[in-house]
Amino acid sequence: MSRHVVVVGSGPAGLGAAAGALRAGARVTLLDAAEDPGGQYHRMPPAAFGAARPGRLHHGWRGFERLRDRVLGHPRCAWWPESAVWSVDRTEQGPPHVHVLRGEADGAGRERHVLRPDGLVLAPGAHDRVLPFPGWELPGVYTAGAAQALAKGERLVVGDPVLIAGSGPFLLPVAASLIEAGATVLEVLEANPAATVARGWAARPWELAAQAGKAGELAGYAGLLARHRVPYRTGRAVIEARGDGRVEEAVTARLHHDWSVVPGTERTVPVDALCVTHGFSPQLELPVAAGCRLRGGAFTDVDDDQRTSVPGVYAAGEITGIAGAPAARTEGLLAGWAAGGGDPGDRAAAALRRRRDRARAFAGRLAAAHPVGAAWPGWLRPDTIVCRCEETDYGTLLHAADGAAAGSARAVRLGTRAGLGPCQARVCGPTVAELLRGRAGGGDPHRRPVAQPIRLGELANPPVDTPDKKESAR
Ligand SMILES: Cc1cc2nc3c(=O)[nH]c(=O)nc-3n(C[C@H](O)[C@H](O)[C@H](O)COP(=O)(O)OP(=O)(O)OC[C@H]3O[C@@H](n4cnc5c(N)ncnc54)[C@H](O)[C@@H]3O)c2cc1C
Repeated sequence: MSRHVVVVGSGPAGLGAAAGALRAGARVTLLDAAEDPGGQYHRMPPAAFGAARPGRLHHGWRGFERLRDRVLGHPRCAWWPESAVWSVDRTEQGPPHVHVLRGEADGAGRERHVLRPDGLVLAPGAHDRVLPFPGWELPGVYTAGAAQALAKGERLVVGDPVLIAGSGPFLLPVAASLIEAGATVLEVLEANPAATVARGWAARPWELAAQAGKAGELAGYAGLLARHRVPYRTGRAVIEARGDGRVEEAVTARLHHDWSVVPGTERTVPVDALCVTHGFSPQLELPVAAGCRLRGGAFTDVDDDQRTSVPGVYAAGEITGIAGAPAARTEGLLAGWAAGGGDPGDRAAAALRRRRDRARAFAGRLAAAHPVGAAWPGWLRPDTIVCRCEETDYGTLLHAADGAAAGSARAVRLGTRAGLGPCQARVCGPTVAELLRGRAGGGDPHRRPVAQPIRLGELANPPVDTPDKKESAR
């Protein structure tokens, strides 16, 4: 009997993993909390919109459609949309058991399933990271990812005019999505100075040649910005948002290379909405719950075939490093091939490893060109909110870390409630950990045994039998 591979996430990495496992001859269950496959990169408008050209705002749409149709239409693939993995249970031998809730996230009738795979591929992706600054909690301040999701997925603009700020090449597709959806983008601000960006990208130029597609994509966005006369400024950031009840103006300032503010360079810009992003946070709760070792505390550690430190568990995509959609797809193909029992000596697998390694080199350049400067906490004031769910401010956090809770990050969190609200530290976790570094240690910001919200009633219901046949081909 063929191996059963469960793939969590149907973004570029998950779809690639499903294709790799199918090619190796495995049976695959591909599941995603979302209604449609594609993940962050190929986010589709809802079918109800009846979009004539759903791929209009997307790069590589044709290739995505081909892969999606091949995987979801395969007789050995069961596609489970609206299926959230809320927990994984370690076992004595073999991969962990996978606990799934199937059904509309806001609906009443979600079913519990427990899957016991022979191989598990984790590909849950990342979400965008936003550093706090005074006023970032005001309505009208969005993460750039949320603004892009609304533009790409719902054809909605978050405001008009919009200012986009933060760091990384991701600023460009966000600007492009908002322009295409009809918004006026005032300017795009990259916090790193031009010298840092240029040094990062210009090192080892031969590596760029191997990533011509990605470079072409970025050049396309730059052209769109130029046609719409949107300035792209480096070494400048939004350090404050102001407004009465919602954002009305952004305060921007020039930054030194460590992101400390150059005094006297502040400017006030009237805005209707502000979109900010300072990189990505990988979603590590599932690998951490499965017992996978992390690399540098930041990413899932994998070997040459995407194996994690837990037998039978593989990882692909943004949870192993931030390298973009093509890299995620290649890692997925390799992970799926290995999880499905494919021959490690296969020639196609060797070619995939080489392609994956080139993509990882590209990721290194990305990190070098767009680092987060260590002096950003200098933007904060004592009353700046750090944890938005619990409204814990910077002053309270420091007071606890230097006082009664000194030395223990857990005690600081319990005492101030930072990270204990509805988002369970998904947004503020890395920020709080960074602000407490050197003051209060311990605790894993990614330890979240319940990875997705589950109602008590759902928890009380026994799991339904998991059908062992093809569920649907979309
Ligand atoms: C908000 C955002 C916007 C981006 N926009 C761009 C862009 O415009 N251009 C660009 O080049 N790159 C963009 N990126 C980066 C790009 O999306 C990634 O490089 C690529 O999508 C990574 O693929 P992935 O498969 O690892 O993750 P993703 O594409 O994020 O896919 C992960 C999938 O896993 C699912 N999932 C997560 N947790 C669970 C769970 N517990 N149970 C079930 N399913 C789960 C999610 O619903 C999602 O569909 C963006 C990233 C983010 C976070």
